[in-house]
Amino acid sequence: MLTCENGPVRLLIVEDDKALGAVLRRGLVDESYAVDLVGTVAGAEEAVAINQYDAVVLDLGLPDGDGAQLCRAWRDRGLTVPVLMLTARSSLNDKVGGLDSGADDFLSKPFDFPELTARLRALLRRPAELLATVLRVGDLELDPARCQVCQGEVVIPVTAKELAVLAMLMRHNGKVVSKTDLLEHCWDEHYDGLSNVVEVHIASLRRKLERPGQPAPIETLRGSGYRFVAFSGVSS
Ligand code: CA
Repeated sequence: MLTCENGPVRLLIVEDDKALGAVLRRGLVDESYAVDLVGTVAGAEEAVAINQYDAVVLDLGLPDGDGAQLCRAWRDRGLTVPVLMLTARSSLNDKVGGLDSGADDFLSKPFDFPELTARLRALLRRPAELLATVLRVGDLELDPARCQVCQGEVVIPVTAKELAVLAMLMRHNGKVVSKTDLLEHCWDEHYDGLSNVVEVHIASLRRKLERPGQPAPIETLRGSGYRFVAFSGVSS
């Protein structure tokens, strides 16, 4: 039995393709997840209002709305449940745009079921170090328990995965962290290493962290990895 901190892992699948939804539900139930399946934005809203989910598999195109807008609405309301978005879009720009909606990961259709479960395991995994204390570098503060990043007084909205990536970079402040290290610590050892998921999350974090006149505090070292470098200026 798969368990989170409190009992079996409960998943919500939001998918209007009835055949696909049924296959996903059956497969995930076989993997010992507790699974609810709905096919509309309205159904998803009703489900999250009633139940506490450990993760949501969210289709982008739904008959009564858009999965990305639904996810954005959830984030705006402070709902932090990890979201795996199912999408036909696969370009880097579309994924960065989608990450702005607050989704934690993407899976392009069509996909193999084992890839879905690998991504879900990665989303559900909460690295032990993430439960550690608040990280501070310069005026950037990352609070793992509250899933919150602050620059001075300003709260920067980040997804759970972005938080994990940023935490790892901040913990190694000034040192290079390889893409492999990020994949291993923030995703899953079975994760598809060829995927551009690290690049997507770094690009999104950069956009969120940049300030006027200053580059974002994450450097890319071609061929070796990424490095967190605290802002040089002191904000007032
Ligand atoms: Ca659909």
